[in-house]
This record gives sequence, structure tokens and C-alpha cells, in this order.
Amino acid sequence: LQPRAREEAAEGKAKEGGEQKSDCVKRVEAMAQMREERRMKAAAARAVREEEAKEAEGRGGIESVDFLNRINEYRRLHGLSAPAPWPRSKHIWDAEHGSSNIRVCVRKRPMLKVERHRHDFDIISAPGGSGALVVHEPRTKVDLTKAVESHEFCFDAFFTEFDGNEAIHEATLAPLLKHVLTGRSATVFAFGQTGSGKTCTMAGHGNHAAQDGNAIGLYELASRRIISEAKSLGLAVQISFYEVYRGKVLDLLRGRARLEVLEDGCGHVTVVGLHKVLVDSAEAMLRLVKQAEDLRAVGCTSANETSSRSHAILEVALVEASSSLPAGKLTLVDLAGSERAADSTSKDRQTRAEGAEINKSLLCLKECIRALDTGDAHTPFRGSKLTQVLRESFIGDAKTVMIATIAPGSSAAENTLNTLRYAQRVRDFSSKRPPYE
Ligand code: ADP
Ligand code: MG
Repeated sequence: LQPRAREEAAEGKAKEGGEQKSDCVKRVEAMAQMREERRMKAAAARAVREEEAKEAEGRGGIESVDFLNRINEYRRLHGLSAPAPWPRSKHIWDAEHGSSNIRVCVRKRPMLKVERHRHDFDIISAPGGSGALVVHEPRTKVDLTKAVESHEFCFDAFFTEFDGNEAIHEATLAPLLKHVLTGRSATVFAFGQTGSGKTCTMAGHGNHAAQDGNAIGLYELASRRIISEAKSLGLAVQISFYEVYRGKVLDLLRGRARLEVLEDGCGHVTVVGLHKVLVDSAEAMLRLVKQAEDLRAVGCTSANETSSRSHAILEVALVEASSSLPAGKLTLVDLAGSERAADSTSKDRQTRAEGAEINKSLLCLKECIRALDTGDAHTPFRGSKLTQVLRESFIGDAKTVMIATIAPGSSAAENTLNTLRYAQRVRDFSSKRPPYE
């Protein structure tokens, strides 16, 4: 090639190479630009989200402060700022409450740490030492103005977060000891939404270090007394512990074995094959109860958790040592979570069926307890498996205590009101109790 031609060829190659290079650079630059744009968009989105979160937090905070101010004002005006503990000598079976066989009490548990963390606030006020309480329901109206609706209730007793299980036992169950030891039956129901303290009341939370008087529960407090008194009267004590889940009866002292319920011509109901264990000390009884409680808790972490969907029934029966004839019975019932009754509208078939069953049993329970005071010969105990197995608790000279447990937080307001309204319907129909003051 001539030098000129060589030059031109080199130039051409260089040009070509230059074009290739700029293409590549362009692509790299375009990619970098896109990356930068994406980064900017993400940063902008993050900023918006953070702004929204901050705003929501501010809104929540202001809202709570607003509600709290109103609640505190109510407490100040009505002298409800510091509830008194339940007086030690006072119990719910004295004449002041009339001749009814039914007592309904409410127990408020303390706020839990997790509730404080999510800015829940306490919506329950009470003077303490009586049956009166107020629920402050926070409401945001359509025009976004905030209001607190205060609902007043009156029961046979209201136990504050400062009243431990022992005080509750002394006020509710201890006075029934004689009733049981003289051959009759007494039943305690713990009723309330899941997490409101039913099991804590019945079994205790087991944490002795907490020193809040709730380490041991009514199971132990009541049985200790009954077992020692029974011994001195020459009576034997038999315990059984079972669960009613979806209309099935499962024996908690025999690995949840399924049991059949039979009714004879006279209406006597028998749970066939129910394990009844003779115990001669409270310790022996507690070992069995502990095993059964553990068995109940096993399912709690799995998807088909049942402890909030089943009713647990502990029977402490007295029998004549020589003839094994029945001589009085105390029954302690840890009911299914009351909020589960609303599951009867759930989309999931299994949940819906469980909800329907719980709804039915709780409605029927209310009617059966009421029948104790109306003297209605047609106690509708066949309406659910729960009331069928508890039939003896609703006939004759039986006495019943319902302890409605409530969570104190604002997020539980709706469930708390539902629990209290149910409890009120159990209590406030009887002609055997004095009218409200
Ligand atoms: P439920 O049986 O109604 O579902 P739990 O008894 O299991 O409710 O109570 C839920 C939680 O609240 C548990 O951690 C329990 O220890 C705690 N708790 C309930 N009641 C009290 C109370 N009176 N004092 C202290 N902690 C309580
Ligand atoms: Mg429980």
C-alpha cells in the first residue's frame, strides 16, 4: 500500500475502533445512569415511606395522648385513679348478694410488656374492693374527632391487677368449701378472650420469682384445702381432667384418649372410661395436673393449636372411702377463648366449625347457669357437649362462680366489652339477687 492509503486504512481502523469504544462506553454510561435513577427512585420512595411512618407515629401518639387525657380526666372526676385492693375479709357469698346460686366476678390482668411497646393503654377503671368497673372505649368518629365512651358495669366482685390468685380464691372459692364437703357441687368457670388470664387464674403462671401472688392458681389453692379437709372427714378424693374440643371429650390423664358420653333414662350423664385417679395429697394431684397441662400446651406452638379452642375441665370429686359413693364435687373449667365464638363466620372450614361449636357451647352454658336460679326443670344441658358433661353443675343445690377475665389494653376493647356483656347476661336476670344500687 501507498503511505497515504496506509494512513487512510489506519485512520479507518482507528475510527472504527473509536466508534466501538464509544458504543461500549455509552452502554456502560447508560447502565450507570439507570442504576443512578433506580437509586434515586428507591431513595425517594424510602423518604416517602419514612415520612409516612413518622406521620402515622405522630398521629398515633397524639391520638393516644388525647384518649388518655380524657380517660384520666374521668378517673380524676370519679375518684378512680388508684384502685383499692380486694379486702381480705370480704367474700362474694355473703347475704349482701342475695340468695342466688350464681356469682359473676371480673378479673383484670396487668398490662404486658409487649402491649406497652405497641402503645396500648389501660382502658379499665375501678374503685377496687367492689364489683364496679368502667371500660373506656376509644372511638374515632366519622369526622375524625376523638371521643371516649365510658361503659359502666357492676358484678359481684371486680379484682384489679393487684389482686393475686390467693385473694381471689379466698373471696370466691374458699367460702364454698363447706358446701362441697357436705355433698354438694360447686363449679368455677374462667371465661374470657385468649390471653386475658384464664389459665393464669386456674393453673397459675408458675413463675415464683414474679412474686405477684399468681405463681399458683385455683387448682392448687382449692385442692390443697379440700384434700386436707376430706382426709379429716374420712373421705377419699378422686380427680379427673379432660378436654372438650369440637364436641369430642378427650381424657387429659390418658394421653387425650377419646371418650364417649352416655346418658341413661334418668338423665344421668356418664363419660365412659374417664380416668379417675385417687389422690391422697395435693402434691400427687398437682403432678397429674401438670402433666395434663403440658399435654394441652403441646399443640400451642403448632398450627393446629387447640388450648384456646377447647374447654379444659378438672374435677375434684369426694367419695365415701368405704362405698365409693359420691360425696361432693368441685369442678374447675378453663373455657375456650371467647373470641373464638366469632370464628363461626370464618372462611376456613375447620376454623368455622370450631367457632360454631364454641359459640353453641357458650350460649348454652349461659342458659344452663341461669337455670340454676330460675329453677327451670328443663335445663337445656343437651344443647352442647360441654353442658352435657357438666350437667351436675346445673341441677339441685349447685353453686357456680364465673370469673370473667379481661385484658386491660385499648386494642382489646371490643373483646373486653363482649366478655363483660356475656358475663352480665349470665348474672343480671335473676330474681334472687338484690337490684342495682
Ligand atoms: P388465657 O388462658 O386466657 O389465654 P393466660 O392465662 O395464658 O391467658 O395469660 C396470658 C399471659 O398473660 C400469660 O403470659 C400470663 O402469664 C399473663 N397473665 C395473665 N394474667 C396475669 C396476672 N393476673 N398477672 C400477671 N400475669 C398475667
Ligand atoms: Mg389458656
